[in-house]
Amino acid sequence: MKSYYQAVIIGAGASGLFCAIEAAKRGRTVLVIDHESLAGRKIFVSGGGHCNFTNRTVGADYYLSQNPAFCISALKRFSSVDMLDWMGKHNIIYHEKEQGQLFCQGPAQQVIRALLDDCERYHVQIAFKTKVQNIKKAEQFEAMTNREVIVAESLVIATGGLSYHALGASNLGYRVAKQFKLNVVSPRPGLVPLQLSVQENSLCEKLAGVSFLVGVCVREQSFSDQLLFTHQGLSGPAILQISSYWQMNDVLEIDTLPEINLTEYLKKERLQRPKKTIKTCLCELLPKRFVMAYAQNKKWIDQLLTDCADALLECIATYFHHWILHPTGTLGYTKAEVTLGGIDTQELSSKTFESKKAPGLYFIGEVIDVTGQLGGYNLQWAWSSGYCAGQFV
Ligand SMILES: Cc1cc2nc3c(=O)[nH]c(=O)nc-3n(C[C@H](O)[C@H](O)[C@H](O)COP(=O)(O)OP(=O)(O)OC[C@H]3O[C@@H](n4cnc5c(N)ncnc54)[C@H](O)[C@@H]3O)c2cc1C
Repeated sequence: MKSYYQAVIIGAGASGLFCAIEAAKRGRTVLVIDHESLAGRKIFVSGGGHCNFTNRTVGADYYLSQNPAFCISALKRFSSVDMLDWMGKHNIIYHEKEQGQLFCQGPAQQVIRALLDDCERYHVQIAFKTKVQNIKKAEQFEAMTNREVIVAESLVIATGGLSYHALGASNLGYRVAKQFKLNVVSPRPGLVPLQLSVQENSLCEKLAGVSFLVGVCVREQSFSDQLLFTHQGLSGPAILQISSYWQMNDVLEIDTLPEINLTEYLKKERLQRPKKTIKTCLCELLPKRFVMAYAQNKKWIDQLLTDCADALLECIATYFHHWILHPTGTLGYTKAEVTLGGIDTQELSSKTFESKKAPGLYFIGEVIDVTGQLGGYNLQWAWSSGYCAGQFV
């Protein structure tokens, strides 16, 4: 049995549903296929269950890609302001957290509900638990599934990245790209906790649960945010952010006191409270558990400030401002919020998202080599790319 649609979209996630609704608004017959039994499973868990759906400030600077300019056009044509408008039209209340991050006031399920309502309104059909076995291109595209053969004028791949297999991730998008001879930039986990050597990790284990503001730096890239020690290594927003820029053999530099000049601070304290110990001073600035573990074997820790020469204070400051670590890897796709790399943007039109080599074949969302930083940028990319492709499929 064969079914015919003008546009078939594989993936009922953020980008796929947005694209489907836009195409259906134009009067196209649209089918969305997903191998899972629910739509938008990543939206459901996003933002700790409250969906950080966009950011007040969105621009190419917040994305990683081999071709940083590729995302500009789509982010302008469907911007974060357009997304706020969409939320308003669907009566979804949101609020701003730090750094422009916008979250739903209620559960993320509201966003999924609104998307599914729009699908119904515009007659988008959705086939769940449908597995694509193979794809052929003759006059039109033919997708062989476990249920039927689906024929499509336009085929949209919106299957996302490789992270969180338990939420439906698969490599279908990359396989389709290879089948049609499109280059794929090697995927790797992004926004992911980092692992350390056994020796370096022994400190993290002792400090599991401790969290504080740090500056992190890898090569030219730096972030200032919370660090969280875990039994498995380093996590927290600062580490997730820098992980997308970290590559094997890169050293990680941590400034444990990014907001002060520790040398100057200690010198001032020495004048005002000379009988204070270094330990007391540091424990007023940092979690005590961290100070005690990090400076465990340092002779100066119990020294009185008055007994510390300038050179020693400078040495202590360097120790806390420049903590050098040697990550050995990441916790991989099971813990990564996103997948870096993906379909090479040189293969796609930045206007339509259509493949240059295979007309009628489109790629949108996280499956493309465009990855956002933490803070709502990845969902905004899904909305923007889905919206733009939806005007053409
Ligand atoms: C835990 C977690 C929290 C996150 N929080 C945020 C956040 O707060 N803000 C933010 O901006 N981003 C967040 N992200 C990232 C964001 O969710 C994704 O970047 C975004 O959902 C990508 O949208 P997409 O449509 O490209 O892919 P997805 O949303 O991953 O959708 C892909 C769809 O394709 C389906 N699929 C996959 N393979 C097949 C196949 N072979 N056959 C049929 N269907 C298939 C999947 O079942 C899925 O429904 C988070 C990610 C995770 C894992």
